[in-house]
Amino acid sequence: MGYKTMSAKFAIVGSGPAGMYAADALLKSLPDCHVDVFEKYPAPYGLIRYGVAPDHYKTRNTSRQFARTFNEDAVGYYGNVEIGKDISLDELKEHYDAVVLAMGAYNDRKLGIEGEDLDGVYGACAFVGWYNGHPDYRDLNPRLDQDGVAVIGIGNVALDVCRVLAKTRVEHEASDICAHALDAIEASPLTNLHMFGRRGAVEAGFTPKELGEIKDLERCAAIVDAAQLPDDVTGDFEGRERGIKEKNLNLLKDLAAQDKPEKPVKMNLSFYASPKKILGTDRVEGIRLEKTQVVDGRALATGETFDIPCGAVVTAIGYQTSPPEGVPLDGGTVANENGRVEPGVYVVGWAKRGPSGTIPTNGPDSRDVVELIIQDVAASGMAGGAAIDALLAERSVRRVTFPEWEKISEQEFARAKAPQPRERFTRVDEMLAVLS
Ligand code: NAP
Repeated sequence: MGYKTMSAKFAIVGSGPAGMYAADALLKSLPDCHVDVFEKYPAPYGLIRYGVAPDHYKTRNTSRQFARTFNEDAVGYYGNVEIGKDISLDELKEHYDAVVLAMGAYNDRKLGIEGEDLDGVYGACAFVGWYNGHPDYRDLNPRLDQDGVAVIGIGNVALDVCRVLAKTRVEHEASDICAHALDAIEASPLTNLHMFGRRGAVEAGFTPKELGEIKDLERCAAIVDAAQLPDDVTGDFEGRERGIKEKNLNLLKDLAAQDKPEKPVKMNLSFYASPKKILGTDRVEGIRLEKTQVVDGRALATGETFDIPCGAVVTAIGYQTSPPEGVPLDGGTVANENGRVEPGVYVVGWAKRGPSGTIPTNGPDSRDVVELIIQDVAASGMAGGAAIDALLAERSVRRVTFPEWEKISEQEFARAKAPQPRERFTRVDEMLAVLS
């Protein structure tokens, strides 16, 4: 298998889990190939750095495995190089035997309701990016100056956002939340977090481990109304999925039965409520929701609405991909057939199948696409990185190599104030200054 592809050169756009699992699979299948991984900002690892919640610090350890891949001679890291701006997709196609798109889904889906453009409405990409120090969202300065925040969606991202906002400085000690975000959260007069699901507890996207994490927070009580919970999990769920639903339901019942502890912050989990309008004139002042009924798994509007005052709304309702220009879209993902986009171009991860699953879910997905690549592609003596280096020099683009990234990363650890493990650089010029 793979003789014709043995010494092929591959470009991977995006260094998050899907791209790195693909790099790994290419190297394992074709030990003589070469893989260059492109990333828009100096820091690698995509979702692991900018998506995973800062208090899920151990989950970020997956990046150690990917660092080993980057340290292989056959892998080049092109940090701080944006495909579509610094180098075009056509240029990658011209200089590599195949291109793998692995840029994830880094665009918030829209609610499509009135008031969504008001000051104080944030998509989860932006909001999570803010507390995780993503350069695009460093200056988001979300409106946390009121006592209420509403989060739309009942998946793990919504839980992450609520939990990060609910935790105290002490609870964040072992996390690598950025200082600017922790200061803002601590200064916020927040007393009410609202999480709204348009369907019920059984249909919720969150998972038991994450749900369990909101039970014993220092300053925040999770409030669940027992009347909104079904007695049992009914419906067409089997095996592992049914197990997750049952555990979720039991945890929610525990939360509903908990003596309501007198804590200054309440996290209200409400089901059967669909956002109808975001209220306010210049900025968010509240949200109007419509009560729903779930019939055959679908949320149906009842016409009955209620308003909740809040100063900010975070939508955690899923993501869409935004590929380089010219790549065909199919809804929120890149149009593809089993990962093939066009001859020589492939897609993996959330850009291929949408935002679902955990980090390891991307392993088998990327490996399947690599199998296709090996069948399709023949090595044809492409210039690969040599051609790209020449173009970057011509365009005065400062590529960050992997050893250079490691220097930046060391500085992030060195400047953290214990017990915080790491204090990230949140601006590109700060990162580049480490290298000057
Ligand atoms: P998700 O689980 O699909 O949740 C999205 C939520 O948004 C759902 O409750 C959905 O409701 C709701 N929604 C969508 N459109 C809506 C609308 N127009 N109005 C109101 N609600 C709407 O996705 P996610 O939370 O964004 O997470 C993405 C993936 O990352 C998931 O696989 C998740 O498990 C994973 N993740 C994992 C972790 C972890 O392992 N710790 C952490 C974060 C994320 P409906 O179901 O009714 O559509």
